[in-house]
Amino acid sequence: MAHEKSYDALVIGAGPNGLSAAVALARAGLSVKVIEAKDTLGGGTRSAELTLPGYTHDVCSAIHPMGVASPFLRTLPLADHGLSWVHPPSPLAHPLDDGSAAVLERSIDDTGQTLGPDAAAYRRLMAPLVDNAEALFPDLLGPLRIPRHPILMTRFGLRAVRSATGLARSAFRGPHAKALFAGCAAHSILPLDRLLTSAIGLVLAMAGHAIGWPCARGGSQSIAEALASYLRALGGEIETNRPVRTLAELPEARAILFDLTPRQLLSITGDHLPAGYRRRLERYRYGPAVFKLDWALDGPIPWKAPACARAATVHLGGTIEEIAAAEAAVWKGEHHPRPYVLVAQQSLFDDTRAPAGKHTGWAYCHVPQGSTEDMTATIESQMERFAPGFKDRILARSTMSPADFQRHNENYVGGDITGGVTDLAQLFTRPVARIVPYSTPDPRLYLCSSSTPPGAGVHGMCGYFAAKAVLRRVFGKRIEAPPCA
Ligand SMILES: Cc1cc2nc3c(=O)[nH]c(=O)nc-3n(C[C@H](O)[C@H](O)[C@H](O)COP(=O)(O)OP(=O)(O)OC[C@H]3O[C@@H](n4cnc5c(N)ncnc54)[C@H](O)[C@@H]3O)c2cc1C
Repeated sequence: MAHEKSYDALVIGAGPNGLSAAVALARAGLSVKVIEAKDTLGGGTRSAELTLPGYTHDVCSAIHPMGVASPFLRTLPLADHGLSWVHPPSPLAHPLDDGSAAVLERSIDDTGQTLGPDAAAYRRLMAPLVDNAEALFPDLLGPLRIPRHPILMTRFGLRAVRSATGLARSAFRGPHAKALFAGCAAHSILPLDRLLTSAIGLVLAMAGHAIGWPCARGGSQSIAEALASYLRALGGEIETNRPVRTLAELPEARAILFDLTPRQLLSITGDHLPAGYRRRLERYRYGPAVFKLDWALDGPIPWKAPACARAATVHLGGTIEEIAAAEAAVWKGEHHPRPYVLVAQQSLFDDTRAPAGKHTGWAYCHVPQGSTEDMTATIESQMERFAPGFKDRILARSTMSPADFQRHNENYVGGDITGGVTDLAQLFTRPVARIVPYSTPDPRLYLCSSSTPPGAGVHGMCGYFAAKAVLRRVFGKRIEAPPCA
């Protein structure tokens, strides 16, 4: 618009990656403005009273190992801007039908105590990674490049490239370790017999031991608010309630970074980008979706396995065989009657989330892309299976279907919460294979969302690397890598 002032850089979308990109640019001395479609900031880090007054629910992301591991977020003074991480005693629990649970504790040996015959095997698999986690995170949370620690990365890669089912079956004998690993790997939202599904399982388990799986005190929204507060302190501007539909409506800027997925970039840029690049973006694949429930609860979730109350995150779905079957069904377009369910119970550890004595519950399962099936009863049956009496504690519930997610945030195309499939073919080449994947053929336009490496999660690293590319290519500036990146 002619009357608007101009900026060095604009960022479209105020998700964790958009805000991180804006912070990195503002720290380098650029004038930056973030433009957000909705009336609240945060994208996948919003919180809201979805059920009853006084109950704060995380609308999307809830648990933040990647936020704590992020080499970029770690360098920011976010605690001074209101962010504090709440660590439950155990990062993760995974109950089985017999009332026992595999528990990922901070200590590998304590974890082994819950894994029956596999304590030593678990130590053999995890200890070399956990001992080197600080060196591995920066290599893992970035685009494909020459690793800083090639030997460590090769050792990691040899395991990570395997399928989760293949690795678990060759490493472990008993059901507990296999189930624990399958639950971590199923965050990939891929069939667990696919190559590379071990990668996410290993990274999440390693993070659990090395740094924990915390939630943000007061809700995930406080991550976005802290980033936004720091950005404003650096002189950055943020405008909400402004959905961007065309390039022409934007203020003048030397660089524009889109915290959006390829589909929206295509729609906003029209025929501005070359046809060949557009065709490649059109081939970008979106994956399965999620169906989510949030509950206001009359008391804590009554787990059959008491250890589940020590963790903010609980994976439901039983054995590795069941979880693998449920995830494979989703990719065949089916709704499994006993899905893998991710549960978070933040209020057990963060008393700001619910009135005294009351609690919140957060849970979702994977469903086929664009699914319209109501999974409420199915998810609640899984809850009841591992926490008998759970349904009696429900005071109110909120449901979110794939279509609701896309309405909440246009990045969730068809309910896909990962910004596009994260398989071998699309992990490092998201959104398309380019030496600098954040760049487009227009030297002013960049992508900075989870549709770029290293992909989904609240870590801000897509934003950081996109900002780094903009600073170098548009402004001729080099920024110091964070000490650990
Ligand atoms: C149910 C659910 C559970 C999750 N759980 C976790 C978890 O526990 N831990 C974790 O690390 N990650 C989790 N994630 C994933 C995580 O939230 C995302 O990977 C992350 O938010 C991606 O950040 P982003 O900045 O790339 O994009 P987003 O967070 O999607 O932000 C994009 C922003 O752009 C805005 N926007 C879109 N279109 C326009 C437009 N045309 N104009 C202007 N603005 C626009 C959107 O409103 C949004 O604010 C979860 C996601 C969901 C949905």
